[in-house]
Amino acid sequence: MMQYDLVARPLGISETLGTSSLDPRWKPLAERDTNADGTFVYGVTSTGIYCRPGCPSRRPRADRVRFFETTTEARQSGFRACKRCRPDAVGLAQPGVEAVRRASAYLSTHADQPVTLAHLARVTAMSPHHLQRRFKAIVGLSPSNYRRGGAGMSIGYSTVSSALGQVLVAATVDGVCSVKLGDSETTLVRDLRREYPSAEIRANKQTRTEWVKAILQHLRGAEPSLDLPIDVQATAFQWTVWRALQRIPYGETRAYAEVATAIGQPKAARAVARACATNPVCLVVPCHRVVPAAGGTGGYRWGADRKKRLLAVEEKRR
Ligand SMILES: [Zn+2]
Repeated sequence: MMQYDLVARPLGISETLGTSSLDPRWKPLAERDTNADGTFVYGVTSTGIYCRPGCPSRRPRADRVRFFETTTEARQSGFRACKRCRPDAVGLAQPGVEAVRRASAYLSTHADQPVTLAHLARVTAMSPHHLQRRFKAIVGLSPSNYRRGGAGMSIGYSTVSSALGQVLVAATVDGVCSVKLGDSETTLVRDLRREYPSAEIRANKQTRTEWVKAILQHLRGAEPSLDLPIDVQATAFQWTVWRALQRIPYGETRAYAEVATAIGQPKAARAVARACATNPVCLVVPCHRVVPAAGGTGGYRWGADRKKRLLAVEEKRR
């Protein structure tokens, strides 16, 4: 059956791929990969029957295969359901549901790692383009926005005035997901919405008031150690750096290179600086305690002046 190793150029796929491309759905079909069931069906033009990828029946010739996203499409094109694999029984009326479910589950269980669309496509045995399209159709978001945008997250926030200006504290039921400092409440709220475009965000709801209180106390220098749960998506490296920052004692500072050494990666000072700059929960992760080795207090996402004042308060209360 060597003919199946030749380039398959099935008809009727121009809507998902250029016709000159090898359709990535051919591989799961040829391997009778039951994992691909629920992601597409194929019709065989010589028999007029459509099957799911894992159908145990004889493999069709590549030039006689047509791929369909839905069983409905297959029927509309004049194909009948295979009695052996019963393709309508795998929930394909809603095409790709199973693959999209797997993709979103994979994104959730790999929240601390970068996942590319290509990788996700391999996990789900779909072409990247196809997966992107189905994901969007079913979830309403692209996979990356699903991951980035906080889809399914319910966030409550509070803004309060402090000696350092406005403080915004946002949290889910699981932990603090954003702490911002600024001059304008409006700007801080807008930034929060930009950070989590797909989340459900509400003012003064659900934010655990004791967390806000703890942060305000901390700003006044009354509560040196701030030990609050954090609910953000980050890479494993970012987590490592942030945990190292939380171990810097109140009132002390470290150079970027010192933090890099502390996490066992002495050459990663630049990456440490980036992890500090992208810290979404200032104060809870005290990135202000990292300073340039050359002296001075260095930059701060929320203003160099605020960093200076934070460090001055800590110095006094130490
Ligand atoms: Zn079949």
